[in-house]
Amino acid sequence: MSTSTLHPAQRVLLGPGPSPVPARVLEALAKPTLGHLDPQYLEIMDRTSAMLRTVFCTENRLTLPISGTGSAGMEACVVNLVEPGDTMLVVVAGVFGGRMAEVARRAGATVHTIDVAWGETASAEQIQAALEAHPDTKLVGLVHAETSTGAHQPLVEISQVVHQANALLLVDAVTSLGGIELRVDDWQIDACYSGTQKCLSCPPGLSPVTFSPAAEAKIADRATPVQSWYLDLSLIQSYWGGPRSYHHTAPINMTYALHEALAIVLEEGLDARIARHARNHRALRAGTEALGLRYIPERSLTTLNALTVHEGVDDARVRARLLGDWGIEIGAGLGPFAGKAWRIGLMGEGSSRRSVDLVLGALETLLAEQGAPVERGAALAAAAASYDREPAEQGTA
Ligand SMILES: *Cc1c(COP(=O)(O)O)cnc(C)c1O
Repeated sequence: MSTSTLHPAQRVLLGPGPSPVPARVLEALAKPTLGHLDPQYLEIMDRTSAMLRTVFCTENRLTLPISGTGSAGMEACVVNLVEPGDTMLVVVAGVFGGRMAEVARRAGATVHTIDVAWGETASAEQIQAALEAHPDTKLVGLVHAETSTGAHQPLVEISQVVHQANALLLVDAVTSLGGIELRVDDWQIDACYSGTQKCLSCPPGLSPVTFSPAAEAKIADRATPVQSWYLDLSLIQSYWGGPRSYHHTAPINMTYALHEALAIVLEEGLDARIARHARNHRALRAGTEALGLRYIPERSLTTLNALTVHEGVDDARVRARLLGDWGIEIGAGLGPFAGKAWRIGLMGEGSSRRSVDLVLGALETLLAEQGAPVERGAALAAAAASYDREPAEQGTA
């Protein structure tokens, strides 16, 4: 076999990301590479930023894709907004909150965490109490859609509490942007980052970010240079929005892919897209509950479904069979849920009736094989009943 050919299989990506990528987006990646200062490329950048503003529901000037995956966006937000010695509060309710706290510590912030049990979310009262205990807090960070637990963190009341304390609010929207409601301006989010490979259904590689005027002012007023030269937003902005001075070579073809993925989001319409994610989640929920699987979080995301595995079922074997026999990828449990949970992502293109029925059918077969008490046919019937209760417009499932 030639070593110069690649043969990746066509998978059904229903894990915590990446999500399935439409052919249109893959075709965009294959278009001719332009130079990073070519006037045609500069236009593509401007249109990409404009579409990102629409999807983030913001008018923030400083809205662009960082070169790198979601973690690069996290790091860019933290290192630009904190200076050594600044106090930052971080809600830790799973892997990604923990990672944000670690990034902030490495950036020299004095970090206080608000620790929440995995699967749960933080309340405005908890944040208020932490802000009273640490009145010098300048930045509060939390995760909107905690992909490690499937919990959906409400933001509106927390935003009020944070701003009353004169702090800025940083939100991880990696598994929410383009899948669940996220209104950056209405909810007064000061800095927000996402990733391309979750609900936007684009390959991994870019991290959309947006900064409010208050966050921009905080960056402009820094006494110390940003510790990361690559992620210094004042330098990146002079390429994306300013005099177009070279900082680093933009990932040109990835920008094409994101441009196409955003165009697809806007063609569908944000509200319709969010409703589609909700409808498919409810059908999956009905089906998995009919199989005896239980949701871990009380407030579940519609984009990521975290379920407890039946006692005695071999989690790794089921996932290996799903991948080997059906080509379906789902995620394993992390942290306290390792070996005990599955994470089924219905993100972007993956949020469809086809995905729901496919994964329910396969899981039913595999659970029955392992001796779990499942009633054959019940899962698909429960999902069908859910779709009957809230029919999609023709062709939008
Ligand atoms: C996936 C994810 C990240 C990290 O993104 P990468 O693209 O893997 O770097 C951060 N936060 C959340 C909530 C995520 O789901």
